[in-house]
Amino acid sequence: MTELFTTIDALRARLEDAGRVAFVPTMGALHDGHLALVHRAIQVADTVVVSIFVNPLQFGEGEDFGRYPRDLDADRAVLPSGVIVFAPEVTELYPDGDVQVRLSAGAIGDTFEGKTRPGHFDGMLTVVVKLLNIVTPHVVVFGQKDAQQVFLVRRMIQDLNLPVAIDVAPTVREPDGLALSSRNRYLSEPERSTALALSAALSAATDASATRESAVTAAKAALAAEPTADVDYFDLVDPATFLPVPDDFAGEATAIVAARVGTTRLIDNAPVILG
Ligand code: AMP
Repeated sequence: MTELFTTIDALRARLEDAGRVAFVPTMGALHDGHLALVHRAIQVADTVVVSIFVNPLQFGEGEDFGRYPRDLDADRAVLPSGVIVFAPEVTELYPDGDVQVRLSAGAIGDTFEGKTRPGHFDGMLTVVVKLLNIVTPHVVVFGQKDAQQVFLVRRMIQDLNLPVAIDVAPTVREPDGLALSSRNRYLSEPERSTALALSAALSAATDASATRESAVTAAKAALAAEPTADVDYFDLVDPATFLPVPDDFAGEATAIVAARVGTTRLIDNAPVILG
């Protein structure tokens, strides 16, 4: 059984003599991708804290904050016993409603995901730094599935000298390639099949990856084969800067893709060796 905490004070008291703490922030609707992070956390720490909090600050108007799946009992049931769950109400983290002070994700926060979802990364970083200040873990574990999030959290830790190590776990996929996501449960059967275009585009880019141009061409052809996938972006970025790589780039790039399938926005990414 997991231990449940809903208040900051009670969680802090519980963590006073908790030894080495690893922390896994989530929005719940837990799947095997989240559980992979939890198992990594268990390996490196005496105490593992999983937060389950659907953060209103990182959702824009018209996004799925209201319908985001919430089932705390089901989430607790799939977590390994001994894990500490922190599941605060919105009023516990934001007692005054909106926050006065929030973090800025900077220029990269306005690109790709941030271009389509203005303010998303400011809201994400703000809740992550709040949670880090509450849990004060030695290690925080994130999934590579959200590549731009990982990039920005790393930068936040570096830029603000936060005393925490970051561990990044590889993306967990269905056998057919679809990256696990809490939002996959919104997909109808035909939409799920359309959603395979994202991982197919990443595989095509990997297979064709002599140059940036050949990788992009192959990925775009794979995406065009599923015309009902409404592609937001496909690009190849430098993992060190999250900026698009130049045509003559050699080395490991990250291929990133986002598309809307029906009303569901999906993202995925994979490493691609160029040059
Ligand atoms: P979320 O609940 O969507 O905010 O995700 C919480 C954490 O789980 C983030 O660090 C995600 O990157 C990670 N995550 C989500 N899906 C996957 C996946 N398929 N594989 C690995 N990690 C994942």
